[in-house]
Amino acid sequence: MKNDTPAPKARDLRTWLAHLQATDRLAVIREGTPLKHRLAAIAKRLDGQQAAYFQQPEGHDIPVVSGFVSRRAWIAEAMGVAQSGLLAAFRHAAEHPLPWREVAPGEAPCQQVVTRMDETHDLNVMLPIPTHSEHDNGPYITAGLVIARNPATGVQNVSINRIQVHGRDRMAILMLPRHLLAFYKAAEEQDRALEVAVVIGADPLTLLASQAITPIDHDELEIAGALHGAPLPVVKCTSNDVRVPANAEIVIEGRLLPKVREPEGPFGEFPKYYSAQEKREVIVVDAVTTRKKPIYHTIVPAEMEHLLLGSIPREATMLAHLQRSFPGVLDVHLSVGGVGRYHLFVKFRKQREGEPKNVILGAFGAHYDIKQVIVVDEDVDVHDPQQVEWAVATRFQADRDLVVISGAQGSVLDPSTTVASGHADSDEPAPPHLQGIGAKMGLDATRPVAYRGHVFTKVRIPGEDEVDLAAEIVPDARVDWTGAEVAS
Ligand code: MN
Repeated sequence: MKNDTPAPKARDLRTWLAHLQATDRLAVIREGTPLKHRLAAIAKRLDGQQAAYFQQPEGHDIPVVSGFVSRRAWIAEAMGVAQSGLLAAFRHAAEHPLPWREVAPGEAPCQQVVTRMDETHDLNVMLPIPTHSEHDNGPYITAGLVIARNPATGVQNVSINRIQVHGRDRMAILMLPRHLLAFYKAAEEQDRALEVAVVIGADPLTLLASQAITPIDHDELEIAGALHGAPLPVVKCTSNDVRVPANAEIVIEGRLLPKVREPEGPFGEFPKYYSAQEKREVIVVDAVTTRKKPIYHTIVPAEMEHLLLGSIPREATMLAHLQRSFPGVLDVHLSVGGVGRYHLFVKFRKQREGEPKNVILGAFGAHYDIKQVIVVDEDVDVHDPQQVEWAVATRFQADRDLVVISGAQGSVLDPSTTVASGHADSDEPAPPHLQGIGAKMGLDATRPVAYRGHVFTKVRIPGEDEVDLAAEIVPDARVDWTGAEVAS
């Protein structure tokens, strides 16, 4: 479970991409792919099978890559652990952060080329920024690590936010009510801009670390260091005081302006629905720094790379949270069908009746996004939705085992919550204090602690897991079927 040795396969983005290529998991796409829709369409078709590498999309010199962490097994591999140890390893890193190591500007690959923004520069000309989904309102940066410093403490925060590039040097950003927004509000109250950096082309482990659910004033780059097993090299931005991963491909330096809001959206989000257009905060860009030949990373929204980067750190947090109160909790999984956020499956060793309902209530309290919790026994694999459904089919009775809580806070991106607030058919979005209100549902799909005979024993065939089919099957054998007459 300890992750003290560096995971060299994922030291930086290029090392990881080379590893994927060497193992036939990177598809090189022919030149000229249109940035509008076509690039995302190709990447989506390859999602979960191969990373897509676009050499020269729409004539751009900068290649685009997508889908390089689109399988759970690949993420475990990048971390250098078995899949079964993935959550424990992430949790260990989150609980044992490693402070970063600052390098001199001349040593940082991400600052090999520095461009100060002036009226001759246009982000959409400088960078190959794709437009992803059908109703998206233009090009979006979807894999940008947004890094800012707490104005009060100086401690950094890292998050991935959707960013619409809607002007030559202007970008509108969605900030959910978390740490970055808190920093911005603190700066805005003093009528000051908040310095930010948007980092594109980070390594898989830094991307994963950015999604850790930690208290405010815990720099996610220190979790990235812990995942790497070595302090992360960072460098100070050229136009502000933010520190960014030195091995990144591209860094956009800028300021979140106080008291400025401009339209952003619609945009197709992780639940596979569009967020409506709203007025959002704005970043004005001061400089762009890159490697000599940078690679641009885009995440296709709602596809596996997007879902897994969010769900694995959340699973690790949920598991740690539940195990503090319920030692019988063995494993958790945020299902893919539940968009990696809403539906939690919990594997639980029950000792007393009623305990699963306590687990359900604990899970609802752990994160507001959790909408449905299914608790199953030890003999059910929570990573297999078919097995979970089997447990519900055979161990659950709705009048006895169902928990429903109405009118709780849920995900604002869940479109069914707009019905609850009465805004599904309105042109105006609900006011913020009415957004995301919905119900919670918990299912206790565990069998009774005490039961007679084999009434709740799962059927298994002795030796089924140990059979070595290669030893049993005769290679190239052909059965002679002649002599079987058929009457017509
Ligand atoms: Mn944070």
